[in-house]
Amino acid sequence: MKDQGRLLSVSDLRVHFPGRKSGFLGKPLPIQVVNGVSFDVYQGETLGLVGESGCGKTTLGRALIRLGHPVVTGKISFEGREISGIGNREFRSLRKEMQMIFQDPFGSLNPRLTVGQMLGEVLLIHGIGRGEAARKRIEELLDVVGLNKEYFNRYPHEFSGGQRQRIGIARAIAVNPKFIICDEPVSALDVSIQSQIINLLKDLQRDLGLTYLFIAHDLSVVEYISDRVAVMYLGKIVEIADSTELYTNPKHPYTRALLSAIPNPEPGSKKERILLNGDLPGPLHIPSGCSFHPRCPVATAECRNREPKLRNLNNNGHQASCLLYE
Ligand code: SF4
Repeated sequence: MKDQGRLLSVSDLRVHFPGRKSGFLGKPLPIQVVNGVSFDVYQGETLGLVGESGCGKTTLGRALIRLGHPVVTGKISFEGREISGIGNREFRSLRKEMQMIFQDPFGSLNPRLTVGQMLGEVLLIHGIGRGEAARKRIEELLDVVGLNKEYFNRYPHEFSGGQRQRIGIARAIAVNPKFIICDEPVSALDVSIQSQIINLLKDLQRDLGLTYLFIAHDLSVVEYISDRVAVMYLGKIVEIADSTELYTNPKHPYTRALLSAIPNPEPGSKKERILLNGDLPGPLHIPSGCSFHPRCPVATAECRNREPKLRNLNNNGHQASCLLYE
């Protein structure tokens, strides 16, 4: 995978939102949601990003393409060019290369526009086509994502959840991007529809040479689609490895606990579930030392005071941040 070259490189990315003031004269405390994250995404691969709700994975994905208004620091490079410092105007031309598929297809589609109008608007904004050429392209896109071209004049409410997600995918690929952030693209869908959408994403990746950052909390879905997987906890990546390696040889206690919760497909076979203490703390209450220590089943006294660094465990890119490996 690494021979294919880096498409996206992220170094020490931090994302925070201004918090509420503490008292009348107090300064607002920043809410640190992503806390020093570094990773690469290689051309043509799918990097899965998993973790519990609230761990910062969606905020990270949105920060990469400048959605919302958080304060973002750190370095982001795309195709070898640093893009973190460029102005919003220049960044807008890059948005063609970097698209996003959202979790809630209904919420992300304009209810007042038909599919044809919505996709036509995207093509117009990016200078890809108008008039008859745009119509042809839209019909082609509908066909590619498995929708009937007769749907051109239908509104979002006339579609099922799976069809709406296909429209969301058509909108993302309409501008011929290289990189797509898929933010929980199937978690709002029925299980039977989920596999159809995942297979569509896989087919599009193969046919269009796409690269994905696939954000999800369902580890089975992530295993199926990802070449590599990064595990996030409280705003940090705590483990990253090739998918097979991570699922067969997890190192971080948090990853082990997450994997132990996946139901075993073989009837009768038993897997010991690792239960974690308590819930994920909020970003305003990040524990000292290793932030996982209050919930870690193998924490030692040292874990309260010393913060582990993400480090290589072998030569195959398997990294974890845990004092057990230092
Ligand atoms: Fe658990 Fe300590 Fe490792 Fe953190 S550093 S994951 S608390 S063993």
